[in-house]
Amino acid sequence: MSDLTFLAVHAHPDDEATSTGGVYRLLADQGVRTVLVTCTNGECGDDPDGAKPDADHHDGDLVAAVRAKELDRAVEVLGIDRLVRLGYRDSGMMGWPQNDDPECFWATSVDEAASRLAGVLLQERPQVVMTYNEFGFYGHPDHIQANRVTRAALKLLDYEPTLYYNAIPNSVMAIMRARWEEEDRRRAEEDAAKGIVREPEGPPSVDGEPIDMGTADELIGAAIDVTSVTDAKYDALAAHASQIGDSFWLKMTRDEFRAAMGTEWFVRVTNPRGLEGRVTDLFAGYR
Ligand SMILES: [Zn+2]
Repeated sequence: MSDLTFLAVHAHPDDEATSTGGVYRLLADQGVRTVLVTCTNGECGDDPDGAKPDADHHDGDLVAAVRAKELDRAVEVLGIDRLVRLGYRDSGMMGWPQNDDPECFWATSVDEAASRLAGVLLQERPQVVMTYNEFGFYGHPDHIQANRVTRAALKLLDYEPTLYYNAIPNSVMAIMRARWEEEDRRRAEEDAAKGIVREPEGPPSVDGEPIDMGTADELIGAAIDVTSVTDAKYDALAAHASQIGDSFWLKMTRDEFRAAMGTEWFVRVTNPRGLEGRVTDLFAGYR
């Protein structure tokens, strides 16, 4: 048994699989204790029949119930030792009416949520903590709030863990962008065939400004090779069938998925161990 603990603070059920599915499984296999804090229940996800949250019959509570079970399955697949659900309501994308729900994560006081998170951090005392950057990686209010709450919680601790933000290097983002555009075209064609006219979602934006989700390659502080566990990452993504069953990830064969998704990248934000340059192990400096 090692005394190493990893804790990630994620916004919605499924985020743990998309950005940290590989490192969770890898660290579990290495005997590291792994903890997942999921801030919201994901009420603004797709209804089981595919309806979007602005549809009249969209039932957020039903969506949350489905996603809770999906998250349990993903946690099992990834070998996560402890799941903590903070239980806030999903705030939806920036500008959605759900932003104003007093029970949503975006409307929650940072101090209140941070004190709850700090309680978990003080129980677990993880050496390594992961969340998203100040822009929530892509501008989603719940992801931005996860950043604010995590940074506020870390200030309440009596020690300093190494904090990482997930990231995609610009060089890789260019390849992914091409894939997404391809996927958007495919969806638009499918919708057109069914006679559905839907506004194109376009790139994620804040105040009309598209968000650049890439990070300069030289700023990447950790690149983790997860090729040995991409099957588990694939299965964890597949567990979230109601949200990403139709995603480009799961359209890949497992071999294609391994080739495309075999690395997870992070930016190092705090550095109590004085690490230099890009490491290949999130626990570099601790073992
Ligand atoms: Zn999310």
